[in-house]
Amino acid sequence: MAARSPFDLSGRAALVTGANTGIGQGIALALAEAGATVVAAGRSAMDETVALLRQAGGACLPLQADLQQNGVAPRVIEEATALAGPLDILVNNAGIIRRADALDFGEADWDEVMNLNLKANFFLAQAFARAALAAGRGGSIVNIASLLSFQGGIRVASYTASKSGLAGLTRLLACEWAQHGINVNAIAPGYVETNNTQALRADTERNAAILARIPAGRWGKPSDIGGAAVFLASDAAAYMHGAVIPVDGGWLAR
Ligand code: NAP
Repeated sequence: MAARSPFDLSGRAALVTGANTGIGQGIALALAEAGATVVAAGRSAMDETVALLRQAGGACLPLQADLQQNGVAPRVIEEATALAGPLDILVNNAGIIRRADALDFGEADWDEVMNLNLKANFFLAQAFARAALAAGRGGSIVNIASLLSFQGGIRVASYTASKSGLAGLTRLLACEWAQHGINVNAIAPGYVETNNTQALRADTERNAAILARIPAGRWGKPSDIGGAAVFLASDAAAYMHGAVIPVDGGWLAR
């Protein structure tokens, strides 16, 4: 009998937030293809993702949740567990961006972004870790960071603050929970073709400048991010704690 691949996720239960589209959908598909049962959570219908994963022979269970609501995290973890069994993997992917010059940036655009990109991710991680510890299990948390976890960017003050904060939070949680067998890491995607970057791609000048700086010479696709998520969720990453891995077509290397 062939040895189990260290990247095999069969028998594992994963919760992916914001899985109806974009990077979350790409990650959900990659985890399902690696064998995981995926709970696809978010505020919009998950029909497309459910169909996509089932078509690929995977298991996908939808869960409705607006992650900007205060106190929602324990319910999400509880409901996901009821659907798929004890969770092994949490992918904190749901995120938003608001654009305005720093001189004009408003409080609502600050609060909404920080509440989802930073606060919701922390409390989901906390609820996931509490459940894992109570059950005497470990697990893997994969946070979706950004190039703006490393760089400043322009016109996205709350986004840069949230994603830089998320990189720090990834390291803090790794330091606290490595001893419990919980691996906390992050992926920093480069420029990926999703709703989040539609405005950038529609701006001919910004689009050309961005493309010219990417060594790979193209925008990323949601499927480009899936492999790193499978790796970080798998036994192959057992000794990975607190890493923020760029998957960016070489942008940061430039
Ligand atoms: P996207 O297509 O806009 O997807 C964002 C996801 O977050 C959607 O599923 C969205 O659901 C969900 N979401 C937003 N608000 C929510 C809420 N209150 N409750 C639950 N779910 C909510 O963007 P994306 O590019 O795939 O982004 C995914 C992650 O990657 C984000 O954290 C983003 O910051 C990060 N990222 C993206 C890029 C890029 O180039 N695209 C680069 C670096 C990092 P709805 O469809 O219902 O709004």
